[in-house]
Amino acid sequence: MNFELKDKVVLVTGGAKGIGAAICRAAAQEGALPVIVDRDEDAGRSLLAELGAERARFVAANLCGADRCREAVQQAEAFFGRLDSVVNNAGINDGVGLERGTPQQFRESLERNLLHYYDVAHFAFPALQRARGTIVNIASKVAFTGQGNTSGYAAAKGGVVALTREWAAELLPFGIRVNAVIPAEVMTPLYEQWLGQFAEPQQKLELIISRIPLGRRMTTIEEIAATVMFLISAQSSHTTGQLVFVDGGYVHLDRALT
Ligand code: NAP
Repeated sequence: MNFELKDKVVLVTGGAKGIGAAICRAAAQEGALPVIVDRDEDAGRSLLAELGAERARFVAANLCGADRCREAVQQAEAFFGRLDSVVNNAGINDGVGLERGTPQQFRESLERNLLHYYDVAHFAFPALQRARGTIVNIASKVAFTGQGNTSGYAAAKGGVVALTREWAAELLPFGIRVNAVIPAEVMTPLYEQWLGQFAEPQQKLELIISRIPLGRRMTTIEEIAATVMFLISAQSSHTTGQLVFVDGGYVHLDRALT
């Protein structure tokens, strides 16, 4: 199957590490031109060196703030003179709960996890319109299952899911397709950090893995990236507004399965 991604410019927020880095690597393997947008400069430059500076670019930016998003999108578009896909991926499960958080922290969590999804898509829209491009939003199972003590992240990811349907509807006339990928348990630097909060991280990990129906294992970053490649490619040309759970059946399958 040919994804027909050669020379397509793919902007990936949070593209320097974890799931975003796997998406950039997969895009490069398909002959696309990934533009990594991330606040982690060391990781961004290291991935750029790995991918090769002729066929990839790095924008160092913290996406908290509309002006920063506008500048990052402008820079990203200027590199290769076009944008074909936006993958909104940057985010952090920051544990702002109802009991332990504050209204101010809740607002800040929405800034970290939701507002830049809108801002990046908004500023990228004219380029995506010219390209009849695609948007993929990375959400989270937390939007559907809850997790406890993470109101900001849950609300943000729920917002990401809603925006996926909303933008798919609004952008129909432009031929811009919009889909979401919903990961559950994927080993990344963020996941390791989240696990580290527990008194017994290894035990917690084993408990989670024992409940993942397909293969009793974590989803890999490459498995998430492969689904994103499909959704930004011509091979999904009649797929829009969809929420694709790449989670080994974690969210939907019968918990009685052994
Ligand atoms: P990760 O390992 O932390 O990688 C994300 C990258 O994005 C990091 O380099 C991070 O920098 C950067 N970033 C975060 N916020 C940013 C901002 N405001 N501006 C610029 N860069 C920013 O995370 P991941 O696990 O790959 O997660 C990627 C996405 O998948 C997130 O939206 C997450 O919610 C979602 N997700 C992940 C899982 C999972 O199991 N891993 C499950 C469900 C959903 P810093 O290191 O400086 O933060």
